[in-house]
Amino acid sequence: MTKSVLVLPGDGIGPEIIAEATRVLDSVNTRFDLGIETSEALVGGAAIDAEGSPLPADTLARAKAADAVLLGAVGGPKWDSLEMAQRPEKGLLGLRSNLNLFANLRPALLYPQLASASTLKPEVVSGLDILIVRELTGGIYFGEPRGVHTREDGVREGFNTYRYSEPEIERIARVAFDAAMKRNRKLCSVDKANVLEVTVLWREVVERVARDYPEVELSHMYVDNAAMQLVRAPKQFDVMVTGNMFGDILSDCAAMLTGSIGMLPSASMNDSGQGMYEPIHGSAPDISGQGKANPLATILSVAMMLQYSLQSPEAAEAIRSAVGRVLDQGLRTADIAGPNDTPVTTRAMGDAVLNALKV
Ligand code: NAD
Repeated sequence: MTKSVLVLPGDGIGPEIIAEATRVLDSVNTRFDLGIETSEALVGGAAIDAEGSPLPADTLARAKAADAVLLGAVGGPKWDSLEMAQRPEKGLLGLRSNLNLFANLRPALLYPQLASASTLKPEVVSGLDILIVRELTGGIYFGEPRGVHTREDGVREGFNTYRYSEPEIERIARVAFDAAMKRNRKLCSVDKANVLEVTVLWREVVERVARDYPEVELSHMYVDNAAMQLVRAPKQFDVMVTGNMFGDILSDCAAMLTGSIGMLPSASMNDSGQGMYEPIHGSAPDISGQGKANPLATILSVAMMLQYSLQSPEAAEAIRSAVGRVLDQGLRTADIAGPNDTPVTTRAMGDAVLNALKV
């Protein structure tokens, strides 16, 4: 059966890193006979320039019909002066909400070859392999009412609402427990149940779901402690699950443990296993068009896509091993290069992964 992937290069370094990622996808598609058909569409600033909207109707319709979406990055200074609703980032948010991508999976995995690239001591981070499961379509980023108003006493105040319903908590908890079952069977749920009622409910629902997963060791941690533990002793974690805002902050913190933003993939999935896959970094306008971007986060996003939406774990593993071999060979783009390394270009890194896949 054929499977369809919609590729959205986006802006800045997006087209450069996507070019390498699609070469890798094409290669495993042939080698493992996966029957994947890819097509391309516009999103973000590129779509604003061509069609006047960051998420054209055609792009959204094709994204909905695809088994998976592979995205580069959106945004850049060219569009920064546009109104909020017209900005490239709205294309990304529109895709997340229209496809109902409520589960954001962000692995923070440190390749041993890059232990010295982290700002933390190598012994604290070497062997690090955490998966953060972040709820992506609810919580304080979406809760109503929200806004800024002037009170009766004339003072202006801003307000947002932190809400989660039981079904929202339950479905993200199940994603996290399922992920833990495929890993080391440890799950840490992060909340602020000592202060926020919404997370008292969060904890209660997570405890209830835990009864269906007796093999998973569940723990709870307040978010402030979780932030501290992530930099103190990150290897204590296997899978972490949390709400939208806490997940936003903790996943960036976990990403930096690994040393480079250019190495980390992510997946955003809905109930039916359809997903959008993208590197965690942005469009890096400062290095765009110079062949300096690290394509590995996007290539590793292809591996996640093969694993989670296209049911091809073997091809996913082949890509991950190829990336490991390339790092073993000493190839480094500028973002992960040490003082004695000569950085390679985006294309050279893509070539090296393709060669390593043939081994
Ligand atoms: P950024 O992630 O684009 O860049 C931060 C720094 O990391 C820059 O110095 C950049 O050169 C470097 N970097 C990022 N990716 C790299 C890679 N693959 N290889 C080597 N170096 C890399 O974040 P920013 O500068 O805050 O944002 C730039 C634009 O990207 C903004 O318009 C922002 O809104 C947008 N953005 C988009 C996404 C997305 O599409 N998912 C995410 C974050 C930011």
